[in-house]
Amino acid sequence: VTQKIDSAIKIAKEALVENRNSHWVVGFSGGKDSTAVLKIIISAYKAVRRPPQKLDIIYCDTGVESILLDRYVKGVLKRLRTELRSTDIPANVKILRAPVSDRFFVKIIGRGYPPPTNSFRWCTKNLRIRPVSKYLKSASEDDAVVVLGMRENESEQRRRSVTKSGGTVWQTQREGKQSRRIFLPILNFELTDVWDAVYLVKHPRSIDPTALDRLYRNGSEECPVIKPPSAPPCASGRFGCWTCTVVRRDRSAEAAIASGTKELQPYLDFRNWLAEIRNDYSKRWPERRSGQPQPGPFTISARKEILRTLSRLERRTGHRLLTPSERAAIGLLWQRDVLIERELGIQP
Ligand code: SF4
Repeated sequence: VTQKIDSAIKIAKEALVENRNSHWVVGFSGGKDSTAVLKIIISAYKAVRRPPQKLDIIYCDTGVESILLDRYVKGVLKRLRTELRSTDIPANVKILRAPVSDRFFVKIIGRGYPPPTNSFRWCTKNLRIRPVSKYLKSASEDDAVVVLGMRENESEQRRRSVTKSGGTVWQTQREGKQSRRIFLPILNFELTDVWDAVYLVKHPRSIDPTALDRLYRNGSEECPVIKPPSAPPCASGRFGCWTCTVVRRDRSAEAAIASGTKELQPYLDFRNWLAEIRNDYSKRWPERRSGQPQPGPFTISARKEILRTLSRLERRTGHRLLTPSERAAIGLLWQRDVLIERELGIQP
């Protein structure tokens, strides 16, 4: 491996030894940066004589993750669990999810939320930030060290925020009364170092670098899973949600389809349709739930239409897009809103 990777592994080894009683948490998104970090931490862990006994690898599953990434990551996590067990590394692979009431389609089809836009971006917090913070809150009680794949050179915005917070591999993140330590072993990595680490560091073996590389063919940013000290907005990422309507066009899906991944077309059509009907006010309540005279939630008949279209997409792709508990939550939410619609004089 290269000198930069060697020195990152060395720093990680020292950090593990010095913090062996802490609860180590590696934030894994499946993307290249967090893959490089995972490889560095696992390699360091294997090389340390008395490593920490609490090590979690966390992944946040939004339920609407980019189709190709979702398939890739679920495969990696499954293999990783087996590999870690067989190598006696006492690490837990944890998949975090938002509570059913906060999931993307429960909000849209159940509560009638309009699909997110830049000015009403209700999704990032519900789907990505909150499930992770909730988990970290409990881990922080054991003096957590959170390992992230943040890099100074990722973007100008990142560089500014890193410089502001001292530019060191150790940073502190405050959340309410709690503060937790963030360890950033690849802070000074350039993009080429990241790919070197992905390809050259052997462990864990469950990650196939070429499969990851394929996901990046059309290159762009990732949607952050754990909010680092100052995170860029999540919206322009290739690794965002396939349903994301915050971006005007889903260029990464368009590019993937243009280069032959035709299976994404029905998902893209659905996303485009969802973005369009947001602005059809005949499908929305005439007022908000608060009573403000502005377009409110989708009407129940519009929500039913979205559910029918989504179910068609499920049948067409053979991919389950709503879990049974999400369907049940939607049904319960409709029961209450039927009464409100009656009061508002909306025809069913
Ligand atoms: S990718 Fe888009 S829809 Fe998903 S959480 Fe981020 S902003 Fe929201």
